[in-house]
Parts: sequence; structure tokens; C-alpha cells
Amino acid sequence: MRKEIPIVSLLLLLPVCCHGADWKNFRADAKRMEERVSELSKFGANPEGGVSRVAFSDADVAGRKYIRTLMENAGLKVRIDAAGNIIGRREGRDPNLPVILFGSHLDSVPHGGNYDGDVGVLGALECIEILNEQHYVTSHSLEVVVFSDEEGGLTGSHAAAGELSPAALQLKSHSGKTIGEGIRFIGGDPDHLEAAKRNPSEILAYLELHIEQGGILEAEKINIGVVEGIVGINEWEVTVLGFPNHSGTTPMNQRKDALVAAARLVEAINQIAKNTPGRQVATVGKIAAEPGAPNVIPGKVVMTLEIRDLEKSKIDLVFEKIKGAANKIAADTGTTISLAALDVTAVPAPTDPRLRKVIQEAATGLGLTTKLMPSGAGHDAQDIARIAPIGMIFVPSIGGISHSPKEFTTASDMANGASVLLQSVLRVDEKGL
Ligand SMILES: [Zn+2]
Repeated sequence: MRKEIPIVSLLLLLPVCCHGADWKNFRADAKRMEERVSELSKFGANPEGGVSRVAFSDADVAGRKYIRTLMENAGLKVRIDAAGNIIGRREGRDPNLPVILFGSHLDSVPHGGNYDGDVGVLGALECIEILNEQHYVTSHSLEVVVFSDEEGGLTGSHAAAGELSPAALQLKSHSGKTIGEGIRFIGGDPDHLEAAKRNPSEILAYLELHIEQGGILEAEKINIGVVEGIVGINEWEVTVLGFPNHSGTTPMNQRKDALVAAARLVEAINQIAKNTPGRQVATVGKIAAEPGAPNVIPGKVVMTLEIRDLEKSKIDLVFEKIKGAANKIAADTGTTISLAALDVTAVPAPTDPRLRKVIQEAATGLGLTTKLMPSGAGHDAQDIARIAPIGMIFVPSIGGISHSPKEFTTASDMANGASVLLQSVLRVDEKGL
């Protein structure tokens, strides 16, 4: 006769939590992510098909409310910190362990698209949905974060790193409100920003899923970008002084044309950035000639110079070469050229090598191809790098288009990214760093 096992004993055999479940099979749901991207894109929808959901606008508030509801429905304990960051917490089994933090931002640039930031937030939420469906409880508590005002200057992550200055609160945001007013508008408390500062010991790791915003992954048919670091961005104001004079009576060999000198320098900057070995980029994005009349030789030109790279020493090297070229052009054209630092404090933020390895293994485990790459754009992760180890996962941007209503990432790429995020979180949870 078959021995009956009492049902109670059977229940005892079941794992109390699903730590033993084969989490390596957990996958994000592409359809749900696509539906949610489409739902989120209604908040601040612009006529071109993207969103103009600038931070602290009514659309921002509406988008945040939508996400907050999704978070609450997924069982997260949600709070808004003093900087207006939304933080949704899922308790782990061991309350003494530091949290694993992951997320991105919901605000857009004016006339932006539907994927920048949104994919990271919805991807983070997707991880929670899958864990809920699988009844899987992690050892570490998990926190999904939506940083406030990323596009206006990384406001929320600055505050989390304890670096949002009182002066920054006075700056006007795209919404028309000052950043201080804006933080209050979305439920934060600009008078007590120190409360938003995170203690490094609280955070085991920060992971961010984001669209690439460039065209490398798509062109090379690669699924996942493992981000090496976020580039440092240094800016200068370049002033070229010549001599304004009559365009009809001044012979060509007697001119001190500031715009001709500036044009040569623009070309030299491009050539130096292109011909120096490495992946640095240098750009002149703004230029103005004075007095700005058709019949006057330009006497003064003011333009910007921006250099980005993963290594500060490379930025410095490229800048020195540009300075050398500027001196030569000034001598050749009878002008003077000065380069004044506007912002040379933004240092590169490398990702944590251990997290790069975790992301790499997670992607490989899912059968996805990867490429190690820098992030040429700024992200909240660069601030969090100062208080916690960071890792970033990129998914392809079709056509390399971003900060545009034409921004697009396929549903399967979004789901790939969210699956890699989930698998990375679970690897860190199980093995630590
Ligand atoms: Zn972004």
C-alpha cells in the first residue's frame, strides 16, 4: 500500500521563499513593456509623436503619478524623498543587508522621445513584476528609483549624492519654475535636501538600463552595450579677436578677420579629435560673429568648445593640442585667440568592473551579444558612482536617434535590456559583489 504523505509535510517541503527557484529562466515581458511605454507616452505627448515632459511640468507630475500607481500595484512601498525622487521598495529577506538600487528618469528634454529614461524606469518595474509572478524574494531589499529632473542637470541624483547646491535651486528649469520650486511642486522638500542624501553603506550597487542614444549597437547588430563609464564633459568659451573694418575698402592681405580664424580653428578641432587615437569627441556647437553685418569684416567671434572622453588625461591632451593649433592660427591670421574654461569639473565616471562582469555574464547567459562601450551622454549613474558601485546596460537606439520624437527602441530590445537588468540584480543578490 502506498504510504500517504500528510499534506502538511508536503507544504513544509516547499521552499519558504523561492531562493531555490531557477531564476536564470526569468525573462521580461516585451508586450507589457511596449504597452507601458505607449501608455507613458501619453503624458506630455507632442504633435511629432514624442513627449515634451520636462521636469516639474504638469505632464511630469502626471507621468510620475502613472508610474507611482504601477509601483504601488506591484506591491512596492513608495516614498518621495526631499529631492522629489520616487523610491519604491521591495523588502528582502535580510533587513540588515544594503539595498540593490536600480532605475532611471521620467522627465524628457523639450521635444523629446518616448524611450530616454522611460525604458530604464519601466525595465526596473518589469523586474519587480517578474519577481512577483515568480514569487521570488531576494535576500537584499530592492529599490526602484525614478530620479527627478535628470535632463535639467541631474537634480535628483545630485541630491542623492549630497551634491545639490543651494545655488542650483535658484536656477530656472524648462518648466519656468526654479529647481527649488519644481522640487516642491513634485512633492519634495527643497528646504531639507540633506534628507535625500544616501549613505554609501546603504547601497550595495546601482544599476541603470538606458537606451544607447547612439547608433553603434544597431549598426554592429549587438543586443546589449555594457557601459565602461560615463564620459567627462569639459566646456570652454573660445574668443577670437581680429579687427572690424570695411569689407569693400580693406584689401584681402590687410585683414584681421576673426571669423576666418575661427573657421580654421573649427576645422582644426575636428581634425585633432578625429586623428588622435582613441574615442574622444570634440565639438564647436555655438558660434557668433560681431558686429554681424554683411559689409563689415568680423572683428570678434565667440564660440564654444566641448570635449568628452572616458579619461580626463585624454580630454587634457586633446585640449592641449587644440590650444597649440589656436596659437598657430592666431599668428597666421593676425588675431588673438583665448580659451576660457566654462565647466571643466565634470570628470569621467567609470562603471564598477565587477558590475560590468555581472552584466556581461547575465547577457551571455540569456544568449545575447554584448559590446563594452563608453556612454557619451550624461546619466544619473555618474552621480551615484560617487556613493556606490554603478553598472549600466544599453539597448540599441534605432538609427542612433535620441532627444528627438523619432527616438525608437524595439520591444524585444527593451525586454532584452530588462532581462539583463533582472539577471544582473539576481546575480548581485545571490553572490554579492
Ligand atoms: Zn536619459
